[in-house]
Formats: sequence, structure tokens, C-alpha cells
Amino acid sequence: MLTVDVRQVPNCGLDVSGEYEREALWEGGSIALRGPVRLDARVVRSGPRVAVTGHAQAEVLLACSLCLEQFRYALELPVSLVFMPSVVRVAGGKETEGGDHDAVTYEGGEVMLGEELRQMVLVALPMKPLCREDCGGICPKCGRDLGREECSCRPEPADPRLAVLGKLKAVRGKDLPPENQGAERRGEDGTT
Ligand SMILES: [Zn+2]
Ligand SMILES: [Zn+2]
Repeated sequence: MLTVDVRQVPNCGLDVSGEYEREALWEGGSIALRGPVRLDARVVRSGPRVAVTGHAQAEVLLACSLCLEQFRYALELPVSLVFMPSVVRVAGGKETEGGDHDAVTYEGGEVMLGEELRQMVLVALPMKPLCREDCGGICPKCGRDLGREECSCRPEPADPRLAVLGKLKAVRGKDLPPENQGAERRGEDGTT
């Protein structure tokens, strides 16, 4: 785990780089990380405040929201974190709250980067992943990948008048499938 012992950080700062294996970040792994999350950052301490700046990289396997094809997605995450101890000792021995709103609290003199990285990856994942910008999706009728080949299916008629006609035909037709016959009977009962 990438844990930084704050007391080991010299005044001039400390470079940290390392890799988090998927198992270390996600138990059970709902995210298809390909390989570890890589972090390169600089840790700078000023008093109890610890700043971690750098970047992280990861590659995930996502399913395209249009064509459902899986594709690799590279995450490049700028890292800019501030850690403050949960309790700050001030001169005189009094303890106060480590009050810094954007800061992540740390305890026991150790800054743990894993949870922050995990959150960053989650936030960076696209809500509607696309395998490529011009993905054509799949044809709802024949299921062909429209980004790769064209199909001859016509889009469904969206005209509501046509939909009504279709219904009338179904009710009057003699060779109705069982579920439509049931619908017809229910309709007659309703009118009498
Ligand atoms: Zn796609
Ligand atoms: Zn089609």
C-alpha cells in the first residue's frame, strides 16, 4: 500500500511513486481495471499539513453504452490532495480540530493514498462510455454494429396514426394470436 509516514517527509519534499494492484483498491472488483493504478507524486509537508501533487494513471475495460462492445479506456488523473491530521496539536499542548474543509484527514502520522486514488478513479469514469466518438450503436432490429456495417432495416414508423391503424387491424383480424383475442374480449365486456 502506498502509505506515507509524515515524519519521514523532509522539508524539501519527497517524491513518491508506486502502483496499486486492483485487489488493493477494490475488494471483489466491480471495476475492470487492467493492471494497477500508477501514482507519481510529490509530497510536501508544512507543519501538520501534507500536500500530495502529481498524477495517476490507470487503464480500465469499459462496455460501450451504445454498441456494448468492450474497449480499453485510459485514465489520466491529476492528483492534488491535501491531508490534515484529524487532531492538530498546537503550542501549549491544546488539541484542536484540524480545520481545513477540502483536506482529507489522516491519523497516526500516516497518509494513506489508496482510498483517495480509488475515489478519483470512480469519479473519472465516464457515465456513458463510448468505444469511439462516432460509435453508431447497434441496430435495434437486426443487432448489427452500425459503426462497422450498414443494415437495410428501416426505422420503426413513428407516426401515431399508423400505430392506431395497426391496432384496429389487429382487433378486427380473424387470425389473431391468443393474447390479442383476450384483449378483444376484454374490450367487448367493457362496452356492454
Ligand atoms: Zn460503441
Ligand atoms: Zn438492422
